[in-house]
Amino acid sequence: MTLLMSVCADCGATYFPARLRCHRCGSYRFLDQPVDSARVSGVVPVHRAPEDCPWHCLVELQTEAGVTVMAVAQEPPTLHSLVPLIQQADGAVVIPPR
Ligand SMILES: [Zn+2]
Repeated sequence: MTLLMSVCADCGATYFPARLRCHRCGSYRFLDQPVDSARVSGVVPVHRAPEDCPWHCLVELQTEAGVTVMAVAQEPPTLHSLVPLIQQADGAVVIPPR
């Protein structure tokens, strides 16, 4: 599933996750903006993941809109690289395996 940013229809402020009200202008009107990639700004290995957990890294990403998104990955991505993103049905943001 494509990751959707929430963009204020009145002032253009971008949020993730979505908000009920814009913190900049107070509007309640939002538009969905699909995001399919973001740049890696930080990687943290998970040292004690449960045995059945396939995710071994927490990854901090910066979208083009300037929004910071946290994702999980099976392998550590290269710092500052552009990586694809998807959002699972449970809401988790995932960097798909290569
Ligand atoms: Zn706004």
